[in-house]
Amino acid sequence: MLQRAAAETIRSAKAFRPRNAFFVFEESDLSNDVDKLWELQTVMSQLGEREKLMAVKPENFAAIDEEYRSANDEMTRLSESLEQMAKERRRVDGELSDQQELLKKYQGQLMQVKNQQQYAAAWKEIDAARKHVKELEDSSLKSMAEADEVQKQLDERNAGHGDLKSHYDRAHDEWQSSLGDLRQEAAGLKKQAEAIEAQLPPRLRDEFHKILRQRHNLAVVRVFNESCTACRSRVRPALVQQLKRGELVYCEGCHRILFLEKSQH
Ligand SMILES: [Zn+2]
Repeated sequence: MLQRAAAETIRSAKAFRPRNAFFVFEESDLSNDVDKLWELQTVMSQLGEREKLMAVKPENFAAIDEEYRSANDEMTRLSESLEQMAKERRRVDGELSDQQELLKKYQGQLMQVKNQQQYAAAWKEIDAARKHVKELEDSSLKSMAEADEVQKQLDERNAGHGDLKSHYDRAHDEWQSSLGDLRQEAAGLKKQAEAIEAQLPPRLRDEFHKILRQRHNLAVVRVFNESCTACRSRVRPALVQQLKRGELVYCEGCHRILFLEKSQH
């Protein structure tokens, strides 16, 4: 706030100073509002570049990130299928013990048969129960072998995982530390932009941001060979004179703010 108030004071003092050629050359690099806007746009575009870079994973990290993620996904998949198999095996084992109970019961009944017909019927039950028990035992064995195979794959993955993780961590740290530089640069640029904005009249600052939004992040454009470098419109000599005096001039073609470099004054 203080900075802004100070800038305001300087600006109103300037308003009373005579405008002449000498006055233009006397000014510092950021002598007038147009220079400040040009600088602000430059700083903002540099900030935008840093922000874009920070959002992108570097290629060497992206590769290991992909590998690490897919290894983790695969391990999760293997663990889940192991859990599923264990659940299924508990179900089969439960059914197996039920069938074994049933078989014992039928075998007990066999002792109490009273005739040939009952005997044959009891044997039939026993036979069916035995068959079922055998099937369940086979299924249990088969799923145990399958689970062993999956466990083996998971163990192999686990064994290599430490190396993969440290590779991933190293690449991640490298990326983060490179981002640290970018972050620092971005913070510096942000501060720079804020400092310039604080020196601008609020209405001009708002106008600048409005044009920036509406015209593809280009609000201030250079004049070269008496033409607008954005839309190629000719800048009339009267306007060039105004520019040389440091006045705010809009391009008659694209309505951007025109900027004339000091060397062309
Ligand atoms: Zn233009």
